[in-house]
Amino acid sequence: MDAEVLVVGLGSMGSMALWRLAGRGVKAIGFDRFTPPHTLGSHHGGSRIIRTAYYEAPEYVPLARRSFELWRDLEKETGQRLLVMTGGLHMGPPGSPEFDGALLSARQHGVEHEVLDAEEVRRRFPQHALRPDEMGVLETDAGYLLPEACIATALDRAQDLGAEAYFDVQVTAVEPVDGGVAVTAGDRRWTARRAVVAAGVWNSKLELPDLGVPLRIKRQTQAWFRTSQPELHSPERAPVFIRHGLEPGTDLAYGFPSLDGSTIKIGVFEAVELEVDPDTVDRTPGASDYAAVSRFVKAGMPDLDPEPERAAVCLQEFTPDHHFVVEPLRAAPAITVLVGFSAHGFKFASVLGEAAADFALEGGTDLAVGHLSATRFALCSRRATGWAGACSRSGMGCTTASTPTWGPR
Ligand SMILES: Cc1cc2nc3c(=O)[nH]c(=O)nc-3n(C[C@H](O)[C@H](O)[C@H](O)COP(=O)(O)OP(=O)(O)OC[C@H]3O[C@@H](n4cnc5c(N)ncnc54)[C@H](O)[C@@H]3O)c2cc1C
Repeated sequence: MDAEVLVVGLGSMGSMALWRLAGRGVKAIGFDRFTPPHTLGSHHGGSRIIRTAYYEAPEYVPLARRSFELWRDLEKETGQRLLVMTGGLHMGPPGSPEFDGALLSARQHGVEHEVLDAEEVRRRFPQHALRPDEMGVLETDAGYLLPEACIATALDRAQDLGAEAYFDVQVTAVEPVDGGVAVTAGDRRWTARRAVVAAGVWNSKLELPDLGVPLRIKRQTQAWFRTSQPELHSPERAPVFIRHGLEPGTDLAYGFPSLDGSTIKIGVFEAVELEVDPDTVDRTPGASDYAAVSRFVKAGMPDLDPEPERAAVCLQEFTPDHHFVVEPLRAAPAITVLVGFSAHGFKFASVLGEAAADFALEGGTDLAVGHLSATRFALCSRRATGWAGACSRSGMGCTTASTPTWGPR
């Protein structure tokens, strides 16, 4: 055997899995078809929100808490700054998933928070023009991660601890064999006791046993808007935010404080998004890519110029219910998969890297990842219909009658 564990994909999830495996002193080897961090998958753009009052489902709160601990461990082990705490503001009318869901998670798990009416949000955070029917949940344990630094730091640390990482090497197949797994990478076949697969938007292109979940790839545009009042947007003053959509067809907007002192990154999730192929997709952002986010800025953040200074296209893999799949494959338990991060996975990469190490080395985990099993799709009518009966909304969480019993809200 070449190693105890082979890791396929060294982006957000794979880099953290390699770090957690190397920290346990086992021989781990990782492969990436590019050299992460890079701009071709799901992790670029300079910032990712991390939050605890998880509006998508309270089941994520224990994972968010452990994730914070691990990000801080990585900072301590390496002396790198990866996490900036700002607090988090969840805005929307009562009854909206963003407001009600954040409040539910906060109350259920004792997350430190305040509930603010529209006037109080406007007074404390005048960058947000709230409508009278909107309210805010302000939580303390939230901020943003620097994703490129997180990945580079985890990969460096993993290699310092003895892991091997091969870049610009494409894996084509991962298959169970007697006593373990075989990974075909470049012109070589590697063997190990276990494998972890975290190939992001290319997961479906790998030759793998059945994942048990249909996956779709979508383009997501991030845009940077210039402010006329930079003092309102400093990380010391401006929490990361999520706000319920201001117009039909737009699920939500999310944004950050200014990292450069002059621009603010904002994105929106739209209900209608085209499915793309990661190998042929056009990654150049056009006006139609940022039209919805410009409209949000015009209506909701009056000190920003609604014409973005720049924009970037990111790709993301979605499951039908917008929750992740993290588990050993039923058909091949030696292969643990981390897939379908549905545009909210980065914050959990540290804890899910740990879960992957647990699955690979111990066959199970004490971490609260039971809700991330693909078995939920066996209960879901959409598994049978594929995507024909798609979610009634594009935000995270399935709101149809086929919602799994553990489901959000
Ligand atoms: C615009 C946007 C905004 C987001 N905002 C947030 C946020 O604020 N907070 C948050 O928590 N999450 C956020 N997310 C989600 C988060 O960034 C993703 O869920 C996460 O990065 C996915 O990680 P991954 O490891 O699956 O993919 P990636 O980080 O893309 O890693 C996959 C890796 O696999 C490699 N690979 C692929 N195929 C092969 C192969 N055949 N052989 C070898 N290597 C291979 C790729 O090169 C890549 O490096 C956002 C996503 C997008 C797109």
